[in-house]
Amino acid sequence: MNISARIASSRPLATTAMHGRVEALRNQGEPVIDFSIAISHFPAPGPVLDAVATAIDQQRTMPYTSVVGALKVRENLSAKLRLENHIDADTDEIIVTNGAKQALYEALYVMTDPGDRVIVFQPHWPAYVATSRLMGLTPILVDLPDEITPAFLDTIEPAKVLIINNPHNPTGKVYTRQELEHILAWVERTGMQVIVDESYEHLIFEGEHVSFAALCDWRKVGVVTIFSASQSYAMMGWRVGFALAPKEIVNAMQTLQGPITAAAPYMSQLAAVAAFACGTPGEMMADYRMRRDLVVQAFSEVPWIIMHSPASGPYLWGDIRALTMDSVDFSEELLGASQVAVMPGDALGVPGFIRIGYISDDVATLMDGVRRIIEFGNAYK
Ligand code: PLP
Repeated sequence: MNISARIASSRPLATTAMHGRVEALRNQGEPVIDFSIAISHFPAPGPVLDAVATAIDQQRTMPYTSVVGALKVRENLSAKLRLENHIDADTDEIIVTNGAKQALYEALYVMTDPGDRVIVFQPHWPAYVATSRLMGLTPILVDLPDEITPAFLDTIEPAKVLIINNPHNPTGKVYTRQELEHILAWVERTGMQVIVDESYEHLIFEGEHVSFAALCDWRKVGVVTIFSASQSYAMMGWRVGFALAPKEIVNAMQTLQGPITAAAPYMSQLAAVAAFACGTPGEMMADYRMRRDLVVQAFSEVPWIIMHSPASGPYLWGDIRALTMDSVDFSEELLGASQVAVMPGDALGVPGFIRIGYISDDVATLMDGVRRIIEFGNAYK
C-alpha cells in the first residue's frame, strides 16, 4: 500500500495523540486524570441547546447551507463583530468553518505557496506548525517575549505570513493594544499578511481583548481573523468557528472548503448563532477563575516549578527547568507512575515546561491530579 511521502513524513498532532493515549488507557480500566488538553466540564449554554432543540422540534434540519455558511448566520456574526470586536464586515467577508482548525488550514493554504515561510511565536498551539508542515511551508519559530517591542520585531526576518494567537495558548498572554500596534507597524512596513487566532477572546481574567483587525485596515493589510465556539461556549465537539477575511481570501477559502467538507454542519451553525448572542456564561468564567487560583496556589510553595497565574485561557504553563529531568521524561513518567497526563512543553516548541488544562474534571479530581504531580516531582527533584 502506498502512503504519500507528504503524509508519511508527518506525525499526528502531539495534543490529539496524547488525548488518544489517555482514552486507550482509560478503556483498559486505568483511572487516568487528563490535563493534556482542556475540555470544559460545562455543557453548551442553555440558549444553544434550546435553539437546536427548537430547530429539531420544527423539523428545520436543513441538509446543506452554502459553503460559506447560511446568510442568516453570517449576518449574526457580522453583528457580533461590530458589537464585540468593533469591526465592520460584510457577510461576504465571513466564512463559517468546521472549527478554528479548518479556518486556519484554509487561510494558510490560500495565502501561501509551498516553500513559503510562516512566523509562529513559541510556545505555540501545535496546529500552527503541523498545518504549515503539511502544506510544505517552513515554520519560523520565534520565542515569544513577555513584551512585544519594535526592537524585538526588528530582529525577525519577515516571512509570507505571521500567525498571532491572542489571547495566547498556552501562556495566557493577552496582547496589549500597544503590542498589537507595534506588530501592525511592522507588518505594514514589511508587507506580511497576518492570521490572528482569537479563539480565546472571551476567556479573559485580566486585561482587555483587542482584535488586531479593529486597529487596522484589515482588507488592505491582508488579515484573517479566526474565531471559534469551542472554548468560549464549551462547544468543542460542535465543530464550529468562523473566519473574517478580505473577500478575495474568503472566496479562495470557499473554493478549498467546498470539496472537503462543504458547509459546517447546519445545526452547529444555528448553535453558533445562539452562542455568540448569549455570550460566555459568567458562571463558567467564575468556575475557571476559582480553579486557576486553587491550582496556582497549590503550586506556589513547590520549589521545582514556577507557575504564573495566567491572564486568560484554560491552561497553566509551568516552568520545571529546576528539575533534573526533561519535560518529555517528566510527562511520560508522570503518566506511567501517577496516571496523570500533561503536555510536555516540547510539543509546543519550548522544552522545560508542562502545560496543564484545568477545566475538565470536577474540582476534587483536579486537585487530586495536582497533588499527584507535586508528589511525583518532589520525589525527583
Ligand atoms: N485556537 C487555539 C489556539 C486553541 O487552543 C484551540 C483549542 O481549543 C482552538 C483554536 C479551537 O479550535 P477548534 O475551533 O478547531 O476547536
